[in-house]
Order: sequence, then structure tokens, then C-alpha cells
Amino acid sequence: MLNNDPLENVLYIDLSKRTFAVEKRGDLFEKYIGGAGVASALLDETCPPGCDPLGPGNPIILAVGPLTALFPLASKTVAMFKSPLTGNFGESHCGGRSAVAIRMAGYGAIVIKGTSSIPVYISIDGSRVYFRDASSLWGMGIFAAGRIIRENETGSGLRTIMRIGRAGENLVSYACVTSETYRHFGRLGLGAVFGSKNLKALAISGKSSLPVSDQKTYTKIYEEVYKTAVNSAVMKKYHDLGTAENIVPLNNFGGLPTRNLTAARFENAADISGETFAEHYLGRRLGCSHCPIGCIHIAALREPYEDEAYFYKTSMISYDYEPIYSLGSMLGISSAKGFLKLMDKVEAWGADAMSLGVVLAWFTEALQKGLITEKEAMGVRLEWGDVGGYLKAARHIVDRSNDFYKALGRGVEYASSVYGGESFALAFGGNEMPGYHTGPAAHLGVLIGARHSHLDNGGYATDQKTLVKQKMTPRELVDSLIDEESWRQILSSLVVCFFARGLYSPELVIRLLAVAGFDLSEDDLRRIGRDIYNEKYRFKIREGFAFNSLRIPERIFETPSPVDSLNERYLRDALAYARETITKGITAGT
Ligand code: SF4
Repeated sequence: MLNNDPLENVLYIDLSKRTFAVEKRGDLFEKYIGGAGVASALLDETCPPGCDPLGPGNPIILAVGPLTALFPLASKTVAMFKSPLTGNFGESHCGGRSAVAIRMAGYGAIVIKGTSSIPVYISIDGSRVYFRDASSLWGMGIFAAGRIIRENETGSGLRTIMRIGRAGENLVSYACVTSETYRHFGRLGLGAVFGSKNLKALAISGKSSLPVSDQKTYTKIYEEVYKTAVNSAVMKKYHDLGTAENIVPLNNFGGLPTRNLTAARFENAADISGETFAEHYLGRRLGCSHCPIGCIHIAALREPYEDEAYFYKTSMISYDYEPIYSLGSMLGISSAKGFLKLMDKVEAWGADAMSLGVVLAWFTEALQKGLITEKEAMGVRLEWGDVGGYLKAARHIVDRSNDFYKALGRGVEYASSVYGGESFALAFGGNEMPGYHTGPAAHLGVLIGARHSHLDNGGYATDQKTLVKQKMTPRELVDSLIDEESWRQILSSLVVCFFARGLYSPELVIRLLAVAGFDLSEDDLRRIGRDIYNEKYRFKIREGFAFNSLRIPERIFETPSPVDSLNERYLRDALAYARETITKGITAGT
């Protein structure tokens, strides 16, 4: 890395003592590049073995990379922590202005430990750090809290405001952290970790400038990347309809989980498709900082006030493929307006829409099967497609209204272990499933992915591009998923938006890193990627992860997928081989 690069500055904040300090950690960035790589090393250093995910010892680590604020689409921040949902490795990525603000404030990473005795928010303005009383913000939703902090903070330069809602305050295990109103650290419960620390929000602003080794080369490559991005057909798709574009093709493919995966085609998919939202509700598009694509789609929902003639309010609500699946088809909701109303509340409360939708789907089926009493459900009745019922149930979960709703707030893995119905509790490694029933690669991918996310290795794409045409043995499939996940460690150390993964080839990454002062070959990158992958698995195993305890919900074998090889024998063989390969890799350090 270049001399005097602020990337090497790591800001350590202690909420218990209300102190902070900056350390030069060029060693970590030299070894692991940035983002996920550096965050993994910091997690290992700062998270005590066996620590309570909701205790003061659990660190919140935020990290950016050497391309952040320099090149298009290097727009994401990596968060790492011990997950209150899985009790193990937690990682989540968020865009908005988060990454560029951290870098412009003069940091490559931030580590927050401890617990405040009263609700606070932290304001970082360049080298200054303030602990502000947030008692009056506690209980507020995402939108209101963001608005007030925006008015209070006068920091200069680019600013991000990450905050939690009631779900995070009430320690719902899959609460998210929202940045810039429409972007999220969505998965694995970072919001609950904020809540456990009495941390309502984190506002960061900065305006430092960044060194480059060769201005002329920098400008030339920047223009090349920019033009390739804006002229790419894939990126155009993300701009035009956004990820919601995937609803119709996945439904036609037979891979859209519907009504708690009792089906993989939704007869009303067209009513909640990207095309329907674009034609009837699209209000605006937004982009993350330093991204020319603008894939963030915001719907404008105009509704009359109750008891007031000709008075309307307009809510701006973001939508994407994953929430449309989890709060739409998974719940049998075929009204775009109904979906938006539910999404609006879930956003304000700050819950992960994916986990919450899967939890509500399990709750519906568990009620139908008589596993939950009326008393436990507090009189809530759920029918597929009934938006009103889902709003009531979601509210009880966020409010932790009784023991049953508290259990739902800990995720479907936990709730089904108490109330039964494991066979249709759709969690993998403790994390609720993403919106893909495309075949074995999708489910195996989340089972063996380090954070049990579809983004770990993109198994759903392997099903659609490869397995639907040609067979792969379980071993071949595991090897290809591990290779993909290892390479993604480089992208998430840079930290590049995964939508641009096709654009950021090894050859381009090497050239871009050279501008940022890194001299690395493709072999170096692949070795570092595998090292980071191993580092994550070492943490998982240290914290009690065991392949033997991975549960495979029977439901995925009951509902046909487009790929024939989705059967228990195939997945068990693949898991046994994954265990052998990953364990060997960790031991050998390869
Ligand atoms: S493609 Fe979308 S999510 Fe990715 S950086 Fe750009 S605006 Fe953000």
C-alpha cells in the first residue's frame, strides 16, 4: 500500500469507557488487502472465544478496502461480529454512503466494543469522536431517528448514518442496521448487537483526500471501468428493473419459494414482479456512493389518511428481489400494494426482511398444523396472503409480546426446536433461507458458506447456469463452490459490490490494486482469498460450528426443484466431502 494511506488507520472505540484510539495497522492491510480480510483478522484479535453475542465483549467491526472512494462500484462496507442469530460467525455488507464516508473520515476499519450505560449514538467527524445521548431517540423508527440525527450533526464532507429501529433495541436476533434509509447490513443480526450495546446509531463524516501512485494511469483506468460498467447489459438490468427483475424468470424456472416452499412456482408472481412495481409504483432510483448504476428502486405508495377526505400520505419504500420473495411469494401475498405496506413497517422497525418473512411463513404453517395454540399466538390468525395478519404477527415479534413471539424473534431454527415443525423450518446453518429453490447448489451453497448466505458462493447461479444442463458429482460441486467463495473473499476485501463481480476480473483487480499501491499477482490474490476463507472457518470452528450438526430441512426434498440431483443422498455426500476438504485446508493452511 502507499505511504501515508489513511487506510491503515484502525479506529478503536470503547463504549463502556467512552474512549477511542487510532492504531496504524498497515500489517493487516498488507496481508489481507482490506474489507473482509482485515475484518476477519480483527474479529479473531478482538472477539474473545465463546463470548456472548449480546455481551459487551462482542466487537462490531466495520472495514473498507483500497479501492473504496477510488473506483466505481467499490461501494460496500463489510461488518463482522459474532451473530446473535447463529451464535457464530457474522458478516454483512452494506452500501449507501457508508464505505466512502469511513474512508473519507480517514479510516480503513473501525472496531467498537463495550456497552454504554445509557442509549447513545456515536458521531465520528474525521479525527473527532463524540458520544451523544440518544435517550430521546430510543424507541424511534429508522426514518425518524435518521431525520433527527441528520439535523443534529453538522460534520463536513460526505456523511453516513447507520441506525437501528425497535427490532434492534428489543434484541430481535435478526434485527438489521440501516444506512441512508434504504440500504442495510441486513443479515445475521448486527442490529441486535447495536441494541445490546445501547448504540442507536453511528454517524460518520469525512473529507480527507486519497493518495494515488500515478494520477494519469488512475484517470485512464477509472474511465475504462466506468464506461464498462455503464455499458454492461447486466448492469443495465440492475438499473432498469433492479433485482426485482428476477421474480418472473425464477418463477418460470420453477425456483421461486412460495408459501413456505410448499411450491416453487407462484401463480400470482406477475402481480409482484419487477415489471409491475416499475409500471405502477416506481418513484425513483438511487445509487450508492461511487456507483454509476443506481440499482436501488424506491416505490411511492400513496394512501389516504383514515377519516380524512382527500388527504393522502406518500411513503417511499425500497424493494428488491429478496424481500419480495420473503414477504411476498413466501407468504402467498400477491398484492404489490400489500407487500409495500408490510415492507414499510418492517423497514421502520429495522428487521431483516428475509429472516422475518421465513419466520412468518413457518408460523403460518405451524398454526395450520396445530403446533401453536391460540393463546400462544395471542389470537393472531394467519392465512396465506393476509397482509393484515402478517402485520399483526410481525409487530408482536418486534415487541417480543410473549414467550412464543420471543422465540420467533430468535429465528426459525430456535422456534422450531421449541415448538416442533423442524421439517418445514427453512433455516440453513441457523440462517433463514434466501429466495432460491433452484437445485442442490443453492441449498448446499448456504449450508457450507461461511456466513450461510446465498452471496457466499452464489450456488443458485450454478444451478441455473450449469447443473440444469450438465451433472456434477457432489465433489465437483463442492470444489466449485469453495473456489467461488475463495475468490469472493478478494472482492469483499476490496470491497466491491457483488453485482459487479463479472466486471472485476482478476486481471482488472491486479491493475486497480497497482494504482492503490499493491503489487499482487493472480496467484497471490487466489492464495490470499483462500487464506481469508480459512480464517473465517477457523473462527467458526473455534466458536463451536460442526458440519455434523447442520440440519437439512426435509421440505426442500418434498418440493421439486428444476435440477434432478436435489436429493438427500447427494447433499449428504457433498457435506461429508466439504467437511473433509475444509478441515484439511484449515489444518494445512491452504
Ligand atoms: S449496483 Fe446497486 S447495490 Fe451495487 S453499489 Fe451500485 S447502487 Fe449500490
